[in-house]
Amino acid sequence: MKAIATVSRTKEILEKYELNAKKKFGQNFLTEPSVVERIADSIPKGTKRCAIEIGPGIGALTEQLALRCEKVIAYEIDDDLLPVLAETMAPYPHVEIRHQDFLTVDLNALVSELEEEGYTPVVCANLPYYITTPILFHLFEAEKQVSSITVMMQKEVADRFVAKPSTKDYNALTVITQYVADCKMVMKVPKEVFNPRPHVDSAVVQFTLRKYPRVAKDHGQFVELVKGCFTQRRKTILNNFTGVVRNKDLAKELLEKAEIDPSRRSETCTLEEFLTLYEVTYHD
Ligand code: SAM
Repeated sequence: MKAIATVSRTKEILEKYELNAKKKFGQNFLTEPSVVERIADSIPKGTKRCAIEIGPGIGALTEQLALRCEKVIAYEIDDDLLPVLAETMAPYPHVEIRHQDFLTVDLNALVSELEEEGYTPVVCANLPYYITTPILFHLFEAEKQVSSITVMMQKEVADRFVAKPSTKDYNALTVITQYVADCKMVMKVPKEVFNPRPHVDSAVVQFTLRKYPRVAKDHGQFVELVKGCFTQRRKTILNNFTGVVRNKDLAKELLEKAEIDPSRRSETCTLEEFLTLYEVTYHD
């Protein structure tokens, strides 16, 4: 049987079930087998892997994950896709479709359950783009984390996750994400390989969560500090950081203690520098 991620089979399935892609659920189905194969191939190798997928759609990527992993658990929000998946996933009994909004999944329970059964959980998905960041932070902030997350998103969002200091894409989201995970660009994907075709290109990013995030003891406080430093991009870090500690002299003193020139802009500061600033501000 032809792969699901082909133009003809996708069309055939959508017609058979009289389905149109739903914008409100961010539905853009992949129709290029080499792309789904490459995404599935890029998840870390290992034994007894369980792929956790967010939004299987009609099963294009799910099928490739099923061919490579001992188990697949896929969360789909759209009722209308359940009968489709029952048919397309019928050859793969180790694929379990759960009808649930992924943002409501109890990740601690899920990861504990899988680990007790001896599985190594990995996340792999072509994300619904309207909730890319909430899904990622749901994963990052869980107490029991999945250490590898390989996901497709809009290219301009991907560029922010992997950005380097002093580039236009480097912002608070970059620093906060790179603090919790190592972020790697896996591949760029042109808009032409989707049905329907989105307005922008996509990219796949792989996040490898750090086992022991460095230094910042209070994650929330660190996040607030970084966000505060990027409030007004054109201003100096002194100006922005003053808003965080509410005292200009103190802000200057702390920046100097962290060996950050107060006249610099936040976008030039590395993750290490933000961590030092956090330490001298809250833990010295
Ligand atoms: N994996 C398929 C593919 O690559 O062709 C479909 C990807 S499509 C970009 C996103 C999928 O996520 C859709 O099937 C959509 O219904 C589903 N979805 C949207 N919001 C969701 C949510 N909160 N929880 C679970 N699935 C969701």
